Amino acid sequence: MSVTSELEARSQSQCELCKATESLSAFLVSPGENETIDNSILVCGKCDAQLNENETADPNHWRCLNGTIWSEVSAVKVQAYRLLHGLRAEGWPQDLLDMMYMEESELKWAQATLLQDGEVAIVHKDSNGVTLANGDTVVLIKDLDVKGGGFTAKRGAAVRNISLVADNAEQIEGKVNGQQLVLLTKFLKKS
Ligand SMILES: [Zn+2]
Repeated sequence: MSVTSELEARSQSQCELCKATESLSAFLVSPGENETIDNSILVCGKCDAQLNENETADPNHWRCLNGTIWSEVSAVKVQAYRLLHGLRAEGWPQDLLDMMYMEESELKWAQATLLQDGEVAIVHKDSNGVTLANGDTVVLIKDLDVKGGGFTAKRGAAVRNISLVADNAEQIEGKVNGQQLVLLTKFLKKS
């Protein structure tokens, strides 16, 4: 059985991104060279054109992904994640990304080519717009109640050796009072 017919069986001959049934073909979810049932998805002519021509892409076409993100097929979720990630400036794609549940291996796969495709990695900035990096020291600019921690992290407290939260530009992690916390960048400044 060819990969395309395996995909047709899996998807009941519907585009695995938007459910259309016209001009279906296999699309390889990179990286990889040989299409297999595990690394490919069945897409319609419209999705295929959008996937191959970023310039003419219509962001609203991808609103169909609000159902796609619940797919049980890893390759489908990975492609949906990448599309939403690329469109996240529109607002609604970020909401879908936030709702998505990805296994760690799926997330790795999804993110593997984001940088290769010329995509700029998420940039973390402090309250002044200064870019933050792993290992930086930051200072809290307001008192923060630590939920579950039973203490208040005081304004002016230094947080050393921060680590950036990979998929969220607004969060970093660091230790306050010996506890590892997720902190919002808008309440920090680089020291
Ligand atoms: Zn489609």
